[in-house]
Amino acid sequence: MIEQKINEFFGDAESGGFGTGWWSGILSAFCGFLSFGAVLCLHFPQLLSTPDLRPHYPMHTLRVLIQCLIVAAILFGVISSILRKKKTLALTGMLLAIAATALGGSSVQINGSVHGGLAIGLDWFLLDLFLMALIYVPLERLWPQYPKQGTFRRDWTLDVVYFMSTHLPLQILSFLVLLPATQATKYLGVPVLQELIARMPWLLQFFLAIVVADIAEYFIHLALHKVPFLWRFHAVHHSSKALDWIAGSRSHFVDDTLVRGFILVPLMLGFSQSIILAYLIFVTLHATWTHCNFGPNAKWLEKFLVMPRYHHWHHTSQKEGIDKNFAIHFPWIDKLFGTYYFPEKWPDTYGLDGEEIAPGFFRQTVDPFTGRKRTP
Ligand SMILES: [Zn+2]
Ligand SMILES: [Zn+2]
Repeated sequence: MIEQKINEFFGDAESGGFGTGWWSGILSAFCGFLSFGAVLCLHFPQLLSTPDLRPHYPMHTLRVLIQCLIVAAILFGVISSILRKKKTLALTGMLLAIAATALGGSSVQINGSVHGGLAIGLDWFLLDLFLMALIYVPLERLWPQYPKQGTFRRDWTLDVVYFMSTHLPLQILSFLVLLPATQATKYLGVPVLQELIARMPWLLQFFLAIVVADIAEYFIHLALHKVPFLWRFHAVHHSSKALDWIAGSRSHFVDDTLVRGFILVPLMLGFSQSIILAYLIFVTLHATWTHCNFGPNAKWLEKFLVMPRYHHWHHTSQKEGIDKNFAIHFPWIDKLFGTYYFPEKWPDTYGLDGEEIAPGFFRQTVDPFTGRKRTP
């Protein structure tokens, strides 16, 4: 298994606590990886950056960020190699940062047009990985619900592959996601509704968009659970035996495309592009958040807004939680439709209820189409 090889290559028997050089090593490797990838994007923007995002990048800020990542990779590398006996992590981070610098670092000039073309979304993968890890990993390390479950828990590499699989082919996936909505608005566009909504205050429009999206999400999510053919795809998302920020990425592309596509249909009928964009940012942050290994609860808030414990009950393998809590933003939507389950405690077990799916990304991607069951 690749995960075992990674553990053997980078890991050791020493403690992973603060001050042992473990986290500085991880940070060095992470910053080195990001800076190297970012410099590659600067060299080959036509191939490695998303055409829709390219024109909007604040290039000066990004170049400063790349420079900071290179410096951070070297600094953390030095700290880690002083503190820790095994230097593989530190050396990897420093080597990647040196390679990024040798390739021109943050000052690589962009040649040619930045418009159009078919490309791999390496920029989007690196940027989202950086932002999500920056926000959620510290929260999970500081206030975990399951402290023994580390950041590099079992199957984390599988989830990184899933994260890549929804980011690198961004162009194709967003085309598929937008397909039902663009078809629907062609025939069902409601200008009166659009004008009516556009006259409302921005915040109200935004709130309304989340309500509409969550009701749409509720029904497509319900279908994913109740229609056996669709469940084959959604079962992949439920196969995680431990949840954290990146476990939420474990999702078959058919599942992902269906959910996003059908949420966009009602949104595009009545809401402006800026509201839809704001919703997309919100859903990325909130859906990731609901999967987090994060213990603290705000009692007053969790009745109105889905908090991690609520969505964790959706992922339990315990009978009482099966087919409950389909909403991703507002628990009261489940209350309304009779699928609300929210006891005071956290679940004991996660994953599929008496079902097994094949391990590995490839089989998990292909098997739902063929209906092939896991062979022991
Ligand atoms: Zn589900
Ligand atoms: Zn989930």
